[in-house]
Amino acid sequence: MSGIDLSADITFLPDVGPQRARLLKEQMQIATLEDLLTFFPSKHIDRSRLYHVSELRADMPFVQLLGEILSFSDEGAGRKRRLVAHFTDGEGVVDLVWFNGMQYVQRQYRPGVKYIVFGRPAWYKGRFSISHPDIDPAESLSLSAMGMQPYYTVPEKAKKRGISSRLIEHLTTTLLRLLTPPIPETLPPYLVAQLQLMTRDEAVRTMHYPRSTELLSKASFRLKFEELFYIQLNILRYSHERRQRFAGLPMPRIGGRFNDFYSNHLEFELTGAQKRVVREMHADMKSGRQMNRLLQGDVGSGKTLVALLTMLIALDNGYQACLMAPTEILAEQHLETFRQMLGDMPIRVELLTSMVKGKRRLQVLEGLASGEVQILVGTHAVIEDNVRFSRLGFVVIDEQHRFGVAQRAKLWRKTESPPHVLVMTATPIPRTLAMTVYGDLDVSVIDELPPGRKPIVTVHQYDAHRGDMYEGLRRQLSLGRQAYVVFPLIKESEKIDLKNLEEGFERLRQVFPDVAIGKVHGQMKSADKDEEMRRFVSGETRILVATTVIEVGVNVPNASVMVIENAERFGLAQLHQLRGRVGRGADQSYCVLVTGYKLSRIMRQRIQIMTETCDGFEIAEADMRLRGPGDLEGTQQSGIAFSLKLANLARDGQIVQQARDVARQVLQNDESCSLPRNQILWQRLQQLKNTEIDWSAIS
Ligand code: ADP
Ligand code: MG
Repeated sequence: MSGIDLSADITFLPDVGPQRARLLKEQMQIATLEDLLTFFPSKHIDRSRLYHVSELRADMPFVQLLGEILSFSDEGAGRKRRLVAHFTDGEGVVDLVWFNGMQYVQRQYRPGVKYIVFGRPAWYKGRFSISHPDIDPAESLSLSAMGMQPYYTVPEKAKKRGISSRLIEHLTTTLLRLLTPPIPETLPPYLVAQLQLMTRDEAVRTMHYPRSTELLSKASFRLKFEELFYIQLNILRYSHERRQRFAGLPMPRIGGRFNDFYSNHLEFELTGAQKRVVREMHADMKSGRQMNRLLQGDVGSGKTLVALLTMLIALDNGYQACLMAPTEILAEQHLETFRQMLGDMPIRVELLTSMVKGKRRLQVLEGLASGEVQILVGTHAVIEDNVRFSRLGFVVIDEQHRFGVAQRAKLWRKTESPPHVLVMTATPIPRTLAMTVYGDLDVSVIDELPPGRKPIVTVHQYDAHRGDMYEGLRRQLSLGRQAYVVFPLIKESEKIDLKNLEEGFERLRQVFPDVAIGKVHGQMKSADKDEEMRRFVSGETRILVATTVIEVGVNVPNASVMVIENAERFGLAQLHQLRGRVGRGADQSYCVLVTGYKLSRIMRQRIQIMTETCDGFEIAEADMRLRGPGDLEGTQQSGIAFSLKLANLARDGQIVQQARDVARQVLQNDESCSLPRNQILWQRLQQLKNTEIDWSAIS
């Protein structure tokens, strides 16, 4: 044992008084010794090599020179005033330059004393210079500092108040010296051995002071693995327990309703992927375990139909089914779709949203309680406490990130046994992210579009060339097609955005005087919005000018053009989602991304990806690479990507997979979580739950 309690307050260290402690805690979340120990450097600087002035080149990131100051000179005036120290290693001369703190520098360093100077060389006026270098007296430099020196990222605010990378380095060194090895292990020794991991002691020390880059990457692997492993263990243990606690409703039968629908009402052949996914789900439904499944598939891949088919299986087994959509428009559209697809089949499908009121609402509620309503489609309204089902057996949640996990759990309280749950995502999520954010769900993927769909032709057009865009639009309109023109809406500047939309609307009316144009935006009353949508769906209006209210779900197969104005202001997921509104019929569809000339590198990459691929999974992967997983929808809500200290879900996919495999193996070999060798795991899990992450959000 190390003899020191790592949960002790940081003031335990010499050099940390109450004031520093407060800064460290408030600005850097370092409150305990453990926090400091696991506050790892963001990079290391190789201080093992001394350079000669003659070797310097302007593109070197950092160099270290040994030598002495010849003289100081005060140069320039006003804002360009600077102190220059002429420094030599005995062969050549470089200028060390300071733009502030000059008096201090001159007091601190003297000509003729041997120093080690460290900094980034620049070529300026025929000579190398280093501005604001680190300077240490050569004799006082400890050996450890001559290897890979840790560099700790300190937030600006803390820097201003005297916390530097150097200070953290000093504190960490002190702490590591005080800690007698080994720093306690946080994984069972058998796993450390089996996976050939570094011990925690070695890994933590190496992270701060690596002896080589190979060892550094081994240490980093060990700690990333551990981080991801505990997340996976938590998720899997939770679903493991849930399985043992709840029996699933048995739904073995595929009966009359399913078969009648399949043979007599389905107008097309299911895709291979759809068939496979229905089979996967039926296997769950008859297994005696509760189904918790995530259905991933690109926009238009036919998820809704799959949902309906599996709901019919639930009906065939004597249960009710329910579908929750994120918005009223979507709920209504699902209701329409279901009624239309089911045709004259004797199945009662009802709608429940906050718009369904009075007598109508009562009828629906009574029908649910008596069991006469077999399929309920709705919004949040369906999880209100006064909604009672007779035998709810199957729940579909469409686009769940808008629902949240707590709400999912609320559904279960509506029956004795929890219903089977199918979650459908609006936008594909990269696998590694799905494993973490929706980690307790089994995943089914529809990776095939219905036949005959043509990829949407996507082009990028600068604002100044919108004439070409109008030409294309005119051609499509003359073929009888419809078009969307979408404007971004950002909350902070709703007024400006609305002005953009109004101007765009007027411009289109001038360009297309004889075309009926509609308009929807978020500031309109719900009833007006619905009326405008209805007019577009029915074909009364040919162009719909809209903000992103149309983003999700609306289905107008005749629409073949999607123009996205200020496309640079949208994220990839949103662009893909919007584009998915067209290309729903058999005709060739187009998407035009209109932007200004001034585009950042990231904006340009986003636009390029959109023009290159229509594959939602590919786009999701690219999105994660460009933005980092923390910004992806779904992760924000869980907060998980932010809580990770070392691992990065975008880059460490393989480690996520390995962590999951190992966690699963541990649970398989220790069903009741009682093996002594694993006790350390459950203790650590408990400890983590009490501190770092909001784990409840994940499971
Ligand atoms: P998603 O919910 O995945 O976006 P939908 O279920 O809304 O996709 O399906 C999109 C469109 O494709 C709908 O009009 C639907 O009727 C149609 N569709 C679904 N499956 C098939 C199929 N196998 N063959 C032809 N059309 C299909
Ligand atoms: Mg859909």
